[in-house]
Amino acid sequence: MAIVLGCIADDFTGATDLANTLVKNGMRTVQVNGVPSGAGLKDLGDAEAVVVALKSRTCPVHEAVTESLAALSWLRGLGTKQVFFKYCSTFDSTDMGNIGPVADALLDALHADFAIACPAFPTTGRTIYKGYLFVGDMLLSESSLKDHPLTPMRDANLVRVLSRQTDELVGLVEHKIVRQGPDAVKAAFDALKNGGHRYAIVDALDDADLTVIGRAVADHPLVTGGSGIALGLPGNYRRQGLLGAAADAQTPNVSGPAVIIAGSCSQATRGQVARARKLWPSHKIDPLALGDVADAARTVADKVLAGLNSGPQLIYSTAEPDMVLKIQGEMGRNQAGDTVERFFGRLARTLRDGGVRRFVVAGGETSGAVVQALGVHAMRIGPEIDPGVPWTESLSLRAADDAPLALALKSGNFGTEDFFEKALAMLDRRDAA
Ligand code: ADP
Repeated sequence: MAIVLGCIADDFTGATDLANTLVKNGMRTVQVNGVPSGAGLKDLGDAEAVVVALKSRTCPVHEAVTESLAALSWLRGLGTKQVFFKYCSTFDSTDMGNIGPVADALLDALHADFAIACPAFPTTGRTIYKGYLFVGDMLLSESSLKDHPLTPMRDANLVRVLSRQTDELVGLVEHKIVRQGPDAVKAAFDALKNGGHRYAIVDALDDADLTVIGRAVADHPLVTGGSGIALGLPGNYRRQGLLGAAADAQTPNVSGPAVIIAGSCSQATRGQVARARKLWPSHKIDPLALGDVADAARTVADKVLAGLNSGPQLIYSTAEPDMVLKIQGEMGRNQAGDTVERFFGRLARTLRDGGVRRFVVAGGETSGAVVQALGVHAMRIGPEIDPGVPWTESLSLRAADDAPLALALKSGNFGTEDFFEKALAMLDRRDAA
């Protein structure tokens, strides 16, 4: 079977979240980190969907457009039937972009005249009514997203928000239409198109609405939205006979020692680390005492590798908010973050070279740094550990790539307190089977 769906995601953990949704709905999915370059990159196994993870949410508009078009061009080379542009379910963007300009460029490149914009993700409380985006019980503009450091969302009306990012006309398909089913939604799209609109914000309050909308966009070259809207797409391809038999997600087939790397200071990770410290040998990293990053990584790696065969070990820089503030005060916020990320990148590479094969990583930026340092170009998406976080297995796209690694990459605030144990137990069960 060929690759049916090509996705472009504007950040790393968002890409994994989308890939996870597709896998749960029966599509074999691979995530590619950045736009692959060079020859020999087309062997994606039995993948039916590919998600290209970019870092284009907050970069300058022209960079986001250029990278997204490069991703599109690579995906079209794979013969994809539909393209999905994935952004955050809270529509994280500014009046400059990057959602509008990227969507405009993708539509132009696809010679298409219309696309929906639907970030709704009801499972996580993101719903749209009369074009207004809600986060739980609050309007987007009243939620904590109003104070986001990079993309403060001060307007909940998505028709207005997207209109400020594009010269094209943006319309609305209201919930009372969605409730009537896919044909009514398609008729509403036609009416908007005839009125000169290029985009439609579409209301959605629950997963049933997303399925209706999914059906209505079956013949759209481009779909834009959060990972929720991807729920409805696999059913279309199945009806069109484009997918193989629905497959259970495969747990990574990777044996070998495991480590847990926690570079997140988010609340959920703090709880997970506190629990893990009681279970396994732990190495606490103090950013203020790191000194030379390469030397520090070597020293910690030596300690970890010495005990490698006795079970999992935890390496963490996770700290309480007052301590993080103190560290940031002394080092500067960016410098502290960058130093810790470089340390964990180095450490991961040294541990991999020393025989570690299973990595559980907590923190979005931390995960990005670790994956980059490990030179992982692509991952096959496996079963879900906790909502939004799947196991993945690194995929060799080049002959020179290393032996596969099992990677669980979690955004800081995801997962229950026993997430680390749950993740490792899934691999142990596979070993035992
Ligand atoms: P999350 O997903 O919780 O936001 P991230 O990994 O994306 O986690 O971000 C956490 C940031 O904080 C990273 O840049 C990391 O390097 C940095 N960091 C980790 N530990 C500390 C610490 N003790 N003090 C200051 N910054 C830290």
